Amino acid sequence: MAGRAAARAKELRREIERHNRLYYNEADPEVSDAEYDALFRELQQLEADHPELATPDSPTQRVGSAPSEGFEEVAHRVAMLSLANAFGDEDVTAFDRRVREGLNAESVEYSCELKFDGLAITLSYEDGLFVQGATRGDGAVGEDVTANLRTVRSIPLRLETGKPPKLLEVRGEVLMFRRDFEALNRRAEAAGEKAFVNPRNSATGALRQLDPKLTAQRRLSFFAYGIGAHDGFAMPAKHSELLAALGELGFPVAKDRRTVKGAEGLLAFYCDIATKRPKLDYDIDGVVYKVNAFAQQASLGFVSRAPRWAIAHKFPAEEATTELLGIDIQVGRTGAITPVARLKPVFVGGTTIVNATLHNEDEIRRKEIWKRDTVVVRRAGDVIPEVARVAKEGPREKSDWFTLPTQCPICGSAIAKGEDEAVARCTGGLFCPAQRKQALLHFAGRRAMNIENLGDKLVEQLVEGGLVRTPADLYKLGVAKLAELERMAEKSAQNVVAGIEKSRDTTLARFIYALGIRNVGETTSKDLARHFGSLDKLMDADVEALQGTPDVGPIVAESIARFFAEKHNREVVEQLRAAGVHWKEGEGTAEKASTGPFAGKIVVLTGTLSIPRDDAKAMIEEAGGKITGSVSKKTDYVVAGAEAGSKLDKAQELGVAVLDEKQFLTMLGKK
Ligand code: NAD
Repeated sequence: MAGRAAARAKELRREIERHNRLYYNEADPEVSDAEYDALFRELQQLEADHPELATPDSPTQRVGSAPSEGFEEVAHRVAMLSLANAFGDEDVTAFDRRVREGLNAESVEYSCELKFDGLAITLSYEDGLFVQGATRGDGAVGEDVTANLRTVRSIPLRLETGKPPKLLEVRGEVLMFRRDFEALNRRAEAAGEKAFVNPRNSATGALRQLDPKLTAQRRLSFFAYGIGAHDGFAMPAKHSELLAALGELGFPVAKDRRTVKGAEGLLAFYCDIATKRPKLDYDIDGVVYKVNAFAQQASLGFVSRAPRWAIAHKFPAEEATTELLGIDIQVGRTGAITPVARLKPVFVGGTTIVNATLHNEDEIRRKEIWKRDTVVVRRAGDVIPEVARVAKEGPREKSDWFTLPTQCPICGSAIAKGEDEAVARCTGGLFCPAQRKQALLHFAGRRAMNIENLGDKLVEQLVEGGLVRTPADLYKLGVAKLAELERMAEKSAQNVVAGIEKSRDTTLARFIYALGIRNVGETTSKDLARHFGSLDKLMDADVEALQGTPDVGPIVAESIARFFAEKHNREVVEQLRAAGVHWKEGEGTAEKASTGPFAGKIVVLTGTLSIPRDDAKAMIEEAGGKITGSVSKKTDYVVAGAEAGSKLDKAQELGVAVLDEKQFLTMLGKK
């Protein structure tokens, strides 16, 4: 018996260590928190039943995971601990009893707060200035992520006080608001990248980026909930007062907090927050109760990995088991193909669910999910429910295996998947009804066909009313038809039609960009127009010929070839030409551009010019130049307008030629 327990304990430790690494260091957990907690509790129980099995290096005795390579290590002046967990009311009453016994008190005051589902960090302020920020790591040593934390707008870089303490370490949680998470995933989806599973993982991933610019793009937020080491700080007597003081110093502190007495007070807070939870802007995975008086906290002390004076009361996992009836295919606005589970209706976290995402084909393979299996469905906050894993295998006949269709279920165009992409996509961008609105909006955009007065709402009305199916249909719209639409006066209809008319006369580069080919942005469109000079030549180019274009690599070439290989797209292109959309072929080709004053030069624009930046860009490109965003040794010219900043400094440092606006216009022969 003891032999078996020892073997199981060893196995659990190995598994938990592995999950810790995946969760803390790689932000890519394999199992749900509920599953992880179950393994953790099983190990705790085993060690309690067989004290001889408890080892000092067991994950039950330690916090988190050791820092990984890539960041400097930071030794914490005051250890950053974890929290003991309560999963039910009994655990909470038992906690209150232990605290009362420990303090020899009849009733104890607690500070109740949210348990933010992010990651713990510590921020050091010296003489009021933010000097260093670190992750929790294994509690004793964390990672220096100062540069990344500086990008988090809600973290003050200076304490809001005239009399700053010599040292103050503020502790709290970095997390991602749901709306920022959704925006991030929309961008990831549009770029063909893997979507993040939840805000917590994306926050961890963002904070542990080696390039702070990437962190900045992800929009992290912060809530303070405590302090570490301090010197010269007027320490209040109670935790609730400390939270208020942190708020005054400029730190975000969640408003949902309360001081209560006794276990009933704790449980009432829990119920309150459970109701509020879906309405919060961010994820929480429970609430935290802390003994309020610091003197009492000190007398209770710590166990190995958590304080005795606090406990996290976790919400139950929103998971349920049901049968996977089948797998449908959904086509997103950008053509992304998502397999969606059709489920036997099941009640999870307050709602009945009949569908859940399976993310993509790779995820289905990784989780080995077959149709007719019994699966675990999970809901995390407002995030779309997902199939977490298989609970029990079904009959698993050959037909129960999922295969990705080769054709779009909506429009019949080919489905393709790039080699490094997780997401498969419908290639019929111009034709597919699922992608219509997106394709039309992009087509009409300012940098594309620049159709004035054709906005979001109108596109929606046109598509929903069946008036427009492809961009070519736009050119068939008459004033009378448009004026029939709701909220559309004759005059506005005339404006729309005039905008469409005007767009007929365009450039090849704009037209290519307007097609909305994946991975083909404005710059690539210009490069393609310049290189090929004619649409027919571009449409007929194979992958190799496409790669002959400057800056076009295999991925972009593949996207273009795929787009034109889809006959539906070619048909729309022909319809557009037939509708009178035209441009001067050969305009801006390599020959012409190679003689301009900026021929072959790399130019960076900075500061404010008296002409719009887009115009300046266009002038440079017409004169054969190429615009880039940052100054390097390769840059030939920096055009610096008023109030130019770091780019100008960099140019001077590297000895790059700098032109002011007058010199720039003179060079172009415009002054
Ligand atoms: P924890 O998340 O259960 O609790 C401690 C942490 O809570 C603190 O470090 C802090 O970051 C946070 N916290 C949030 N709000 C707080 C507040 N108001 N006051 C104080 N602290 C607050 O403990 P942990 O050790 O970070 O992680 C364990 C948990 O992480 C597990 O319960 C599990 O759910 C999850 N986990 C999951 C996996 C996985 O593979 N799925 C792996 C490891 C850990």
